[in-house]
Amino acid sequence: MPAIASRKSYRVGRSKTGLGLFATMPIKKGTRIIRYFGPILDSKIPAHDEIENKYLFELNGRWTIDGSVRKNLARYINHSCRPNAESDVRPRERKVFIRAIKNIEPGDEINYDYGTDYFKAYLKPIGCKCESCEKKRKKLRAEARAEAAKVKARTAKKLAAQGSNKGSKTKAANKRKLNGHAVARANGRARA
Ligand SMILES: [Zn+2]
Repeated sequence: MPAIASRKSYRVGRSKTGLGLFATMPIKKGTRIIRYFGPILDSKIPAHDEIENKYLFELNGRWTIDGSVRKNLARYINHSCRPNAESDVRPRERKVFIRAIKNIEPGDEINYDYGTDYFKAYLKPIGCKCESCEKKRKKLRAEARAEAAKVKARTAKKLAAQGSNKGSKTKAANKRKLNGHAVARANGRARA
């Protein structure tokens, strides 16, 4: 049986995307951190089927947990594409536990993967804000910046090369002209 955290090992706190759930003590990999709970909805009951909020946790085709109740602190857990916890879904017991899949340090935000359906419906359209995706985006931006800098440097070099060619041509032309003048002046002087 997985270990169950005896005291509250978490607190609600500010996260980058609003509120989140954070570890207040070390949580060992495999530990059940919190239960995701709320009224059980039966999709066969039309009134239940009409309930719509973003805290619905589908257990299977028929049963869904309505996690929007205030006491369900697990609803504060944000999604991550590289999470430190997972949802342990027990459709038969109609229960969901959030379990650590990594050792979690105090202060770490707890998160789990909400799954492909949620991701496609809610996160992909606005861009996932999880740390892993932010890091990926940051890396891509840095790479794009580096590439842009490279192109800029290459262009500058090319322009400089063209400029110096042009410059030397101009200089050469000037020299010829100057030489002409010089000659003319020399001639003038000679004439004077
Ligand atoms: Zn993500």
